[in-house]
Amino acid sequence: MGKITTPGACTCPKKIGPSIPELFGANVFNDKMMKERLPKETYKSLRMTIDMGVSLQPATAAVVANAMKDWAIERGATHYTHWFHPLTGITAEKHDSFIAPTRDGGVIMEFSGRQLIQGEPDASSFPSGGLRATFEARGYTAWDCTSPAFLKEDAAGNVTLTIPTAFCSYTGEALDKKTPLLRSMEAVSGQALRVLRAMGHTSSTRVISTVGPEQEYFLVDKEYYLQRLDLITCGRTLFGAPPPKGQELEDQYFGAIKDRVSAFMWDLDTELWKMGITSKTKHNEVAPAQYEMAPVFATTNIAADQNQLVMETMQKVALRHDMICLLHEKPYAGVNGSGKHNNWSLATDDGLNLLEPGQTPEENAQFLVFLCALLKAVDTHADIMRATCGSSGNDHRLGANEAPPAIISVFLGNELSELLEQVAKGDKVCRDGVCQFLKIGVDSLPELPKDNTDRNRTSPFAFTGNKFEFRMLGSAQSISGPNVALNTIAAEALDEIATRLEKAKNVNTEILAILRETMQKHGRIVFNGNNYSEEWVVEAKKRGLPNVRNTVDALKAFATPKCIKLFKKYKVLSQEELHSRYDIYTEQYAKHINIEAQTAMQMVRRQFIPAGIRFATELGNSVNAAGKLATVQKDLLVRVSELLTSMTKNLAKLEKQTAAARAIGDVPKQATAFRDKVTTALADLRADVDGLETITPRDLWPVPVYSDLLFKL
Ligand SMILES: [Mg+2]
Repeated sequence: MGKITTPGACTCPKKIGPSIPELFGANVFNDKMMKERLPKETYKSLRMTIDMGVSLQPATAAVVANAMKDWAIERGATHYTHWFHPLTGITAEKHDSFIAPTRDGGVIMEFSGRQLIQGEPDASSFPSGGLRATFEARGYTAWDCTSPAFLKEDAAGNVTLTIPTAFCSYTGEALDKKTPLLRSMEAVSGQALRVLRAMGHTSSTRVISTVGPEQEYFLVDKEYYLQRLDLITCGRTLFGAPPPKGQELEDQYFGAIKDRVSAFMWDLDTELWKMGITSKTKHNEVAPAQYEMAPVFATTNIAADQNQLVMETMQKVALRHDMICLLHEKPYAGVNGSGKHNNWSLATDDGLNLLEPGQTPEENAQFLVFLCALLKAVDTHADIMRATCGSSGNDHRLGANEAPPAIISVFLGNELSELLEQVAKGDKVCRDGVCQFLKIGVDSLPELPKDNTDRNRTSPFAFTGNKFEFRMLGSAQSISGPNVALNTIAAEALDEIATRLEKAKNVNTEILAILRETMQKHGRIVFNGNNYSEEWVVEAKKRGLPNVRNTVDALKAFATPKCIKLFKKYKVLSQEELHSRYDIYTEQYAKHINIEAQTAMQMVRRQFIPAGIRFATELGNSVNAAGKLATVQKDLLVRVSELLTSMTKNLAKLEKQTAAARAIGDVPKQATAFRDKVTTALADLRADVDGLETITPRDLWPVPVYSDLLFKL
């Protein structure tokens, strides 16, 4: 193993240069830039496409493309790329230069409207789950003009005009995470507008789902990282004895940020701001070497694009500081893992947040209706929400004694819960000591807590005053899937409510009826207590709430008739598209566990067994030298030999179970074998290795240990 040194202090950047408002969005072809660069008519026409979904005229596209190209070239761009989100969960890009040869042997810089609108990348190497036959390898990328184009810069100074796109097959099926997201945004907008219209609200023309995703991550020194194959290939440690100190002193959360980390965070913010990403909050998280960044909320598809950029930029910028950013949900056993809180809401295009209690009786009636829709949606489709957060990494968090649990429930806070129950029961509602029956659409609600944020950190789906915070997402995952689910299940519940309200003789009476029925049928989903407690597991079971503890089972929700009907009805995903996703995600689970198993075997064979043998040899020599006095050496030798024997046996078991799982052709059966057989064999092997680590001399141990990884930044 390489020399372990304490990393030196970094040189912190000087904060000189353009002011933040000047810097912010400098690399984005945003509305301001469009207004500046496009002829008035073109700008108007493009805005119609962005805001109203009016189809884009080829002539407009040509003018936009040219302006975009000139703008990009002035800033040093030589290439453009259609940037998309395949089902790998990360982003994809193929770069084309702007050059076009001329007759005289030179080149001009060109970018046509057609090149802006559509691309045809070879799609054969992206997962399609059988949607695309191999003879038709073409995939198509289509410009998502609602998410602004931007410039991506790399450390070498290359600048690329990056165009956010959706990615589909020759026959139009979605091969990416963005297409269903855009479709789900349409679905929820349409149904929410119907509800608003039925309630007499006519000023809004669109309802927009918004999200602000908080991103947790770990940093580790690059030198240590490079010595651990498990971190390199799996993003998490497969071995490692508990360090003497973990997070028990609660001294990391919100602690003072170290200079080295602060320098990284400054560079990160600068890069994100340049790309128009509203990085707002940064802080130390609970586990040692764990941190968080949070942006201001944005329209869902833009937020999804930006969150991918955040993850990518974190990894790039960390390298500049000789650190590695770990996005895995559970890099280290025994300390907290990383998640991504998804702060979701619905807002109208004229600025009304539909999940915020208002000042007037009308606004409050609206709020209660949308709240009811969400309760019904979440109770009906908790299984789908759970499925969208399934991954091998997140299995270490959800349902595994760590925040949040695998049981989905809704936190409303006591005040709001009581109010809903009272209204539903027809009981009086008390305000300032005066109790009376609340009349929907006539009375305003009693003062509600505006910000519940810190009231209950254990709930997987918490109402926090003006939004719902979905806390199950894994730190490494795309936020698209969970938001597709939220938008679509909300669309269905709003659809049913709209249908009732449209037919109702008296809308306010009908709202009251909806409120009552929702609480009676779906009130079980509300839970304001401690979600980590054992009592809740028992109580949730009584209430009939699903508790799906692992990804392989969770993903099955994508294959149910209920799910297929839902996504088909709102034209978000066809049965084939849904099935392909089920297949791909289940296969990904198996592949990840397989990589972990292969990595573990290699580390044990080539690093840990040899280390144990070296130590045994040293002990053997010492026994010979010390003779009768070698009692300690003899005891240790016995212990080391026992562990080596057990390790060899468990290694053989892991090899056998992995080979058996790999030989299974059926994807769900294979994933099940990886879950039941391979992960348990891996855990047994880990116990031996970690045991050996605790008694082996530091200089004989072949990899950096937890205290190096967690505390030497
Ligand atoms: Mg956090």
